[in-house]
Amino acid sequence: MIDVLGIGFGPSNLSLAIQLKELAFFNDKKVRFFEKKKSFSWQPGLLLPNTNLQIHFLKDLVTLINPKSPFTFINYLKEQGRLSDFINLNVSYPSRMEFNDYLFWAANKFEDIVSYNSYITDIEPKYDGIQVSHFKVTYVHDNIPNEIETRHLVIASGRSPKIPSAFFQIYDGINVIHSDQFTKSEVHKIAS
Ligand SMILES: Cc1cc2nc3c(=O)[nH]c(=O)nc-3n(C[C@H](O)[C@H](O)[C@H](O)COP(=O)(O)OP(=O)(O)OC[C@H]3O[C@@H](n4cnc5c(N)ncnc54)[C@H](O)[C@@H]3O)c2cc1C
Repeated sequence: MIDVLGIGFGPSNLSLAIQLKELAFFNDKKVRFFEKKKSFSWQPGLLLPNTNLQIHFLKDLVTLINPKSPFTFINYLKEQGRLSDFINLNVSYPSRMEFNDYLFWAANKFEDIVSYNSYITDIEPKYDGIQVSHFKVTYVHDNIPNEIETRHLVIASGRSPKIPSAFFQIYDGINVIHSDQFTKSEVHKIAS
């Protein structure tokens, strides 16, 4: 039985992991995140060169909660030796590639509590009388189903691409794609 199980390890649960670390939660609690991707990446389908973040870089994983945290975008720049160059650029909206690298840099510091390539397929609440006492969670790792029990569950599985019904007939994932898949698509190969 673990204390907290996080579904998905995108920016939301990565930010949560930072909060838990800074609150010393890991000292006496067992926490595990399950991520279906093989490694960390942020919106990879639209990770194009010369595209920028849509929000200010100070809205990073932690600055609004704890500006003194070592997990800020500013500290990432400092560790990369890029702080002066970034200041001289005079930009508030860094490139998506750089921000992805920042998120990857932060995610790498939590390797020991993340199970990648692990897809959550089922959540079953368990009861003590009429109260939910814990959850049985099923996940598939390397095509093998496994189960784990947790007292608390945090679902941060992001959004799913929406394909409007008007496109159902012609959507083939090759010539007609969702932008979420852009970098992997034939359309992208032709365009570049
Ligand atoms: C194309 C695009 C561009 C965006 N650009 C910006 C931007 O510039 N600035 C901004 O602030 N926001 C942007 N957003 C919003 C985006 O939602 C957030 O930036 C952020 O990614 C949300 O983090 P999240 O962890 O909630 O979700 P996600 O980043 O979607 O992460 C969820 C994770 O859960 C995993 N997962 C899902 N289901 C399961 C399962 N069953 N088992 C295991 N793992 C699972 C997924 O693989 C994924 O890694 C953008 C969104 C999109 C789609």
